[in-house]
Amino acid sequence: MERSRHQQLPSVQPSSGRPGTRSGQTGAAGDTDPHPTGRRTPASAPAPAPDPAPATTRRTILRGGLALGAAAGAALTGDLWTGQGTAAAATVDYPSAIWAPASTANYTAASRPSTYPINLVVIHVTQETFADTISLFQDPAHAACAHYVVRSADGAIDQCVREHDIAWHAGNWDYNTRSIGIEHEGWVDQPAYFTTAMYHASAALTAAICDKYGIPKDRNHIIGHSQVPGTDHTDPGPNWDWVRYIRLVNGT
Ligand SMILES: [Zn+2]
Repeated sequence: MERSRHQQLPSVQPSSGRPGTRSGQTGAAGDTDPHPTGRRTPASAPAPAPDPAPATTRRTILRGGLALGAAAGAALTGDLWTGQGTAAAATVDYPSAIWAPASTANYTAASRPSTYPINLVVIHVTQETFADTISLFQDPAHAACAHYVVRSADGAIDQCVREHDIAWHAGNWDYNTRSIGIEHEGWVDQPAYFTTAMYHASAALTAAICDKYGIPKDRNHIIGHSQVPGTDHTDPGPNWDWVRYIRLVNGT
């Protein structure tokens, strides 16, 4: 089992999980799922809890919520949020996503698809909460991140890396260079996290990515992290409903 394997790991990302250099053309590249940190919910955790993290507040403000003022939003998100309501639209590749940039130390800048073709979508499960996943991706020592993170409760999507850049998520440099990585909030052994809202939101995102880059909407091109050669990760695991997901991606 994945969790038992990772319980034996140290609290930092294995050094083998990233390119040797920022511009790295060589080597493997990071596994995105943050579970090697060792943090996880209790084994008895019930259904997904609402996410009280700054992302919620930011999204509330961006989407016209009324609870908090701009000052609170600015304080929570620092210089990422200008309060002008245009920052997200200007920086994300998927219009309904919120820009939550990963540390530049956790991915490789690129000019895809001109430098590398994009022909895969890799599906992950975070093994962390949504908020903790975003925080880890913003940690320059984490050495991994994905392009997108989808929230369990409502299917909200944060984009952490631009699609033209190479996120370190698959644990395999070749696969990283030609894929988009999508993380899903939850745990592989807790199917309650895989909500209808999350399936629908993620499938719409994957469909848009496939349309944009001409990627066939099938299981040869929309794969689980566990299918990446060389990985020891098992996500998204047996509770992920692939039949349902591929149907949703295809709009059927
Ligand atoms: Zn993964």
